[in-house]
Amino acid sequence: MIAIDRIIRLGLILILALYTFQVTAQGTWQVKSTSSAKIHYRRGEAENAAKILSAVDEHLTKLTEKLAVSLPYTPQLYLTTSQEEFDRITGGFLPQWSQGVSSAMSGQIVLKSPSFSKNIATVKQTAVHELTHLFIAQKAGHGVPRWLNEGLAQLLAGQGQGEPLLPISRAMWAGKLIPLSDIDFVDRMTHKDAELAYLQSFNAVEFLVQDYGWEAMRDLLSALGQNSTPDEAFSQVYLFDQAGFESIWLQHLQKSHRWMILLDTQLYIFSGATILVLLSGIAILRKRRKIYKKWESEENSYTGTI
Ligand SMILES: [Zn+2]
Repeated sequence: MIAIDRIIRLGLILILALYTFQVTAQGTWQVKSTSSAKIHYRRGEAENAAKILSAVDEHLTKLTEKLAVSLPYTPQLYLTTSQEEFDRITGGFLPQWSQGVSSAMSGQIVLKSPSFSKNIATVKQTAVHELTHLFIAQKAGHGVPRWLNEGLAQLLAGQGQGEPLLPISRAMWAGKLIPLSDIDFVDRMTHKDAELAYLQSFNAVEFLVQDYGWEAMRDLLSALGQNSTPDEAFSQVYLFDQAGFESIWLQHLQKSHRWMILLDTQLYIFSGATILVLLSGIAILRKRRKIYKKWESEENSYTGTI
């Protein structure tokens, strides 16, 4: 059951990676371009389009240097102006929490305009995040584990740093951390689980890069690009496979995040509420005991008079 589920899901991810978005039959697009990227947008969106294009343009150089690869094509960005338009163009596969999507096969990135989704800063970051997926695919092909792909995209897009790590700490205490291999199914998760999955992906990749460096990361992506399986590529570069990495990362989390829960105000509010309920329960019981005792003594004195 799980195996079938997994295959269907991986199939879906593959479809999206190899998907050509349905943009041609979708009315008139305005276009802005630089020497390295092109953005298609609707009338009235020129200002947003210009800001997003310049963020993408700036980031292209950084990605080329960091991943030692360049795109042999000009990425095409599409700025949609409603959820309905986003769904129509992307085929309706994506959860509503998704803010953007890319297809390495067609070099297309579809985004939600800040006019109906998040603010312009977030949309610029999403554009850069999706662009990073195109670079990763160029270097490593389509067999990159999702946690690695999402973690790298966040790290290179400048997302994730400074994010509160409490959700990881809470999940650790509750035994609800998501196994890295399950992050392949992030598109089917609830918004809350997906947020944890992205946070874990970021944390795992940040740890991997901090401890082993960018050179090793580039080697890992190159090995994947030469058709090694993820476990083979990990073993070649780091001398441990994905499961080995996951256990090293979990040990690091145990050391560094376990006690972060002490900073959790929600926990204190919860504990405070629990203590209040207990105290009022004890007060009620004591009051009842007094009443019963009073009844007993009245009964006794009544009996005594007979
Ligand atoms: Zn992503």
